[in-house]
Amino acid sequence: MVYSYLIMKSQRSYIDYSLDKRATLLALFRGTVDACDADPYLLRAAKWHGDKVSRNCPVCKKNALVELRYTFGEQLGQYSGRIKTPKELVEMESEFGEFRVYIVEVCPDCSWNHMCASFVLGDGTVRKAPRKTRTLEDDDYAAR
Ligand SMILES: [Zn+2]
Repeated sequence: MVYSYLIMKSQRSYIDYSLDKRATLLALFRGTVDACDADPYLLRAAKWHGDKVSRNCPVCKKNALVELRYTFGEQLGQYSGRIKTPKELVEMESEFGEFRVYIVEVCPDCSWNHMCASFVLGDGTVRKAPRKTRTLEDDDYAAR
């Protein structure tokens, strides 16, 4: 499967997990695994941050499938693990040297979820992770 609409200029180290997905689907239809087990957090993320895709859910065949893009990397510091939009990813390409994006598809209808692909983005310049920003918990602690 080619996600041609998401090709970004620094994209590299692309890994396609669709073969694995096919195996998961076959096992699912044979009733040997339960892949429709998205946890409430993932379903909530899909509801608020998911990008609707044109293909249908491979399990329930409904047109509800969305994609989430998780970003991970040392250079992202405390922001590693956040969900980003394709637009934000394009901006991040020139802000960070290297981070990996994981595309997860989620069906809010039947809870099917699967990691589709991952790839690396970034301009290749090594930067220090951003300084940890004070959070509400820090302020709360300092006030005591
Ligand atoms: Zn479904």
